[in-house]
Amino acid sequence: MNLVIFGPPGSGKGTQSLQICSYVSASVIDCGKLLRTAALTITQSEDLRAGKLLPDELVIDVIKEKLKELIKVGDNFILDGFPRSVVQCHALFEMSSELEFEISCLVKFEVSEREVFARLLERFVCKACGGLHDVVLGRCISCGSVEYERRSDDLKVESIKKRLMLYSAVERDIVNLFRSRSIKVLSIDAGRSVDEVAADLRTQLLMFI
Ligand SMILES: [Zn+2]
Repeated sequence: MNLVIFGPPGSGKGTQSLQICSYVSASVIDCGKLLRTAALTITQSEDLRAGKLLPDELVIDVIKEKLKELIKVGDNFILDGFPRSVVQCHALFEMSSELEFEISCLVKFEVSEREVFARLLERFVCKACGGLHDVVLGRCISCGSVEYERRSDDLKVESIKKRLMLYSAVERDIVNLFRSRSIKVLSIDAGRSVDEVAADLRTQLLMFI
């Protein structure tokens, strides 16, 4: 079974991919890690740090090489972090024809932006009352003050915002492309605990096999 795991940053794709391969015979392709390694060698790492995406061509080449390797030895895969653009999505479908593999399912992780921020950053604390500062609302949920304290740097906040924007810009198009190829799309509520998501995912995937 070959799976594509799709969802916003901070939705737990990596963690869940590792859980899935404990009961599905497949290797996890951690695309972020793979690309960071590739990017270091070609000095694109600045873009990664700023939350930008790498050029499609490079990403596609790196993923294709990895897929070739796995398919050569008859392994299945769990793709975590690819495709991230419509161009990459078309490239994946081309690879599936060329390398002769089927994509069994697109697993789509649903999680709110607020939850992503809560997970990726330390909680922000209201300067006036010590309550929880809501990043999405831009104010304290207790007293409404916009002043807050945090330890995370602005670069990180901006980087997450950018990655979320990039994700929501392509989310619908990518899902529709998979649907147009009659590939099953499995939506998972990823806002729950790691164990709850893992159990739900396992039930649904085992039913599907
Ligand atoms: Zn407050």
